[in-house]
Amino acid sequence: MPKRHWVDVMADELEEKLRKRGKDVYIFNGGLSVSGVQHIGRLRGELILPELVRRVLAERGYKIRQLLTLYTQDAWKGKSSQLKVFGGSGEKYVGWPLIRVPDPQGCHSNWVEHYWSDFGPYIKEFTDGKVEVVTTTDLYKGALKEFVVETLRKRDKVREVVNKYRGRNKYPEDWIPFEPVCSKCGRIDRTKAVSFDEEKGEIEYVCRACGHRGKASLEEGKLNWRIEWTGVWKVLGVDFEPYGKDHATPGGSRDSCKDLAVNVYGFDPPEGEWYEWVSLRMGGKEADMTSSGFVGITPRDWMEIAHPEILRYIYISTHPHRRVVIDLQEIPRYYNDYYKAERIYFGIDSTGDPEDDEVIARSYELTHREKPPEALPVQVSYSHVALMVQNLPRDNLFEHAVERLRKTGMIRGLDDYSEQWLRGLVYKAYNWVERYAPPGYRYKVPSKPPFEVYGDLKHRDRLLVLANRLEELDSWDEESIKQVMIEVGSDLDKKSRREFYRDFYLALLGKPQGPRAAPLLAVLDKGLVVERLKLAAAGEPR
Ligand SMILES: [Zn+2]
Ligand SMILES: [Zn+2]
Repeated sequence: MPKRHWVDVMADELEEKLRKRGKDVYIFNGGLSVSGVQHIGRLRGELILPELVRRVLAERGYKIRQLLTLYTQDAWKGKSSQLKVFGGSGEKYVGWPLIRVPDPQGCHSNWVEHYWSDFGPYIKEFTDGKVEVVTTTDLYKGALKEFVVETLRKRDKVREVVNKYRGRNKYPEDWIPFEPVCSKCGRIDRTKAVSFDEEKGEIEYVCRACGHRGKASLEEGKLNWRIEWTGVWKVLGVDFEPYGKDHATPGGSRDSCKDLAVNVYGFDPPEGEWYEWVSLRMGGKEADMTSSGFVGITPRDWMEIAHPEILRYIYISTHPHRRVVIDLQEIPRYYNDYYKAERIYFGIDSTGDPEDDEVIARSYELTHREKPPEALPVQVSYSHVALMVQNLPRDNLFEHAVERLRKTGMIRGLDDYSEQWLRGLVYKAYNWVERYAPPGYRYKVPSKPPFEVYGDLKHRDRLLVLANRLEELDSWDEESIKQVMIEVGSDLDKKSRREFYRDFYLALLGKPQGPRAAPLLAVLDKGLVVERLKLAAAGEPR
């Protein structure tokens, strides 16, 4: 069997199942609880995975609508990480529906809108944009209403099924599976429904937090979560919905919802596919991204340091069952991987295995939200740009960068696609250096030669040799510079070579270390480099 891309395999499997459902339009769904920072990990399984499968099936003639459901009626748990963003004044919102919790920074109408603002508007950058967003808050005002009534009528049967999954902690016979919002204290997580008046559509409840006894409409509350999830499937008509690995355990939450769908509500639950988490490595520490734990960066943050295609490529080239670790210090490497895939797609590079090449080329193709560029774009290394921008004027940064890249022969012509890509690259790399680059990437060339360190230099003669050799170079590029550096230091023992490099950095930057020598020199002006090295070799101001 030839190797195939996981998206195509998944589409084949799903196609067979969908055909049995025999609908005109199929519904794909994803779900998110807006409990805090809306991180890039959430793009993986709930948006990009269904988008890819949808696009492959659409090419085969299937009509599919892709939805994303936001669980906005969920209780705000008041975890320490959530309380922290209120700076000590959030305690009173514990147990409130997320949609009613205020914006801790006061710039949006509530908590959900605040955290959604760094995610929602960017969905179109990270997918093909054909995604409709619904909230459970809106569903309770409309489509879910009838489902709530059905649930309350069938509550004995509902209880029987739900209790199978609750171990010893079973719901009692008088259980009414609806959680109203307390009109006095605002909590949704501490009320107990005591009676249901179907005619008036009212639930009577007592609040275990504040003791209030009151009545609520069916919009002012939510169903118990298993039932709510089942309800979302039913009222939206969901045919396919991926889920995080926490729901994947046999007998776990998803199984209980499927049981409810089939045995209480009489419909086919959606097909599914589980996916692994995305974690974030920062400063040597690694942690799963979590929304309510406020671990992760948002799509907006990502856009400021890297193209969306880079993240898409990471997700698409990794099977959903495998963990993805995002290390923000590694952005230059992610670009290298992407560029390699790009070259493989255009047939000018290879892994050595034609089957692997095909899978990589397919990842590259799917990475593009519409279609890939027509010809191989100009590829400029991220790390080169990251070093270069530090030595350019901030104003008209892009224009200066292009001029510099042309001068050093890194680019010649720029087609529209490449120009747009490079424009993004220049600004993203600039931000990355400021925010996430490892210390080894940062440097500053002093505006005046660092005379004060000349007295410390041990290998002046060799600095002069280096200056002369560099001066003779016809082409000021990283590879040629690297050859010179190697040759000039080749006869030195380890200790002397270390000293020589220390001298080199002192002469150039006034500091004993800096970014790797050849990539650094390649982004600096040749005349300036030669001059500084010669001055240092002479040992005193000229
Ligand atoms: Zn806000
Ligand atoms: Zn209350």
